[in-house]
Amino acid sequence: MAFSFDTKHIFVGGKWRAGESGRLIDLINPSTGEVLAQIAKGSALDIDAAVNAAQASLDGEWGEMTALERGRILRKMSDLTLERSKELAKMEALDVGKPFGQALTDAIAMARYFEFYAGACDKIHGSTIPFMNGFTVLTMREPHGVTGHIIPWNYPMQINGRSIGGALAMGNAAVLKPAEEACLTALALGEIASDAGLPAGALNIVPGIGAEAGAALSAHKGVNHISFTGSKAVGALIQKSAGEHVAPVTLELGGKSPQIVFEDADIDAAIPFLVNAGIQNAGQTCSASSRILVQRSIYDKVVKAMSERYEALIVGPALDDLNVGPMISARQKQIVEEFLQLAQADGLEIVARGKMADKLPDGGHYVLPTLFGNVPADHSLAQDEIFGPVQVVIAFEDEADALKIANGTSYGLVAGVWTKDGSRQMRMAKKLHVGQVFINNYGAGGGVELPFGGVKGSGHGREKGFEALYSFSVTKTIAIKHG
Ligand code: ADP
Repeated sequence: MAFSFDTKHIFVGGKWRAGESGRLIDLINPSTGEVLAQIAKGSALDIDAAVNAAQASLDGEWGEMTALERGRILRKMSDLTLERSKELAKMEALDVGKPFGQALTDAIAMARYFEFYAGACDKIHGSTIPFMNGFTVLTMREPHGVTGHIIPWNYPMQINGRSIGGALAMGNAAVLKPAEEACLTALALGEIASDAGLPAGALNIVPGIGAEAGAALSAHKGVNHISFTGSKAVGALIQKSAGEHVAPVTLELGGKSPQIVFEDADIDAAIPFLVNAGIQNAGQTCSASSRILVQRSIYDKVVKAMSERYEALIVGPALDDLNVGPMISARQKQIVEEFLQLAQADGLEIVARGKMADKLPDGGHYVLPTLFGNVPADHSLAQDEIFGPVQVVIAFEDEADALKIANGTSYGLVAGVWTKDGSRQMRMAKKLHVGQVFINNYGAGGGVELPFGGVKGSGHGREKGFEALYSFSVTKTIAIKHG
């Protein structure tokens, strides 16, 4: 069944309608530079209406539902997402610019998040606590109430799946502010939720620009928890704004994640992960592995094998489903190009690049994937999040050196370690200052079940997995004196 929502509408209280101001934003197709659709430019008034609708659902049908009933609705949302996965993937490919196959993976992942959280709803328990004689003390997990979700443009389906799935599982009512650059599948979620029988107001969707609709959401006193994925600068603003009314925040803010290859590693197994983790979604991935640390004795061998893969990478329009799509926007393309110019000015060594497809549309935001070798660990290209298909290779001497370089940025999201030495695997895993460590793999295929989030500048709090349900709920302690 095809989607029928109007892209210019907001979804509030179970109804589709124009934003109060009637203003619109053009969504640009990154593969062509042409206007793909128009979306509402939501205002503070629209956000206020959404928060009120969310609160009303908590005071009404949604708030009355049992965990089992919530789980059944999430399960239905999962089934509907899977049924419509190809249509969703096409929407996402056109909107974000990601190759169709990668967008399809994202649609399947969104379905999987809803499935996972559907099953988890009625399996999170409180406890009883031994206490003074004459007392019984118990704890229960309760929803925060209204949760705000401020979402970026790079993986809308995956991030909506994990964030909305977790929040609804715990019985919160959500207000979703998708990114102004890519928002179609977020709107489609409104239709999926309605069709699955989610009560009106349990999920509200208000597109708009960050400084207006986003800022209004994080500042709204009726919002009891904010979940944000995006840049470090905006995350800091959101934390401050939510702090004004003491609302907790979960921040997932990107990284400069390393993969560390030791001389005893299975290099053939590592190479596809080393490259794919850098160029997937054109490098516009929070957990992209943008730094490859290689032990000096195998440096030439690894760089040669990575180069061969780089030279086979083809960049082109999303629906052609090549290896790499365009950048999301002209602005993002410019940011990446500025890094490339800096690298050139500083004489960094380009060891390999991909190729552009023949006959690219003129207005697309294409950038060639680029691999730099022998990059000093303190150079901007090895320290700052680029958010483009650019990786740096850095040589290291030994375990201590690898750790120093790996931990030596302001971020701490993910790390990969390639070694057959079991003792070294554990030493590295314990000493890497990050939220996730992958040994002899990277990303574990997305890992819906695996808690995800960072330390340091990569943020705090965890999404994904069962653990996210603790972020999306609060403990209430009940002490009963019965004598
Ligand atoms: P990126 O730099 O990757 O575009 P951002 O951090 O700017 O990521 O944006 C991520 C999300 O945060 C988007 O939905 C955006 O609209 C929103 N946003 C941007 N600025 C603000 C702000 N000041 N307050 C709240 N949300 C914002």
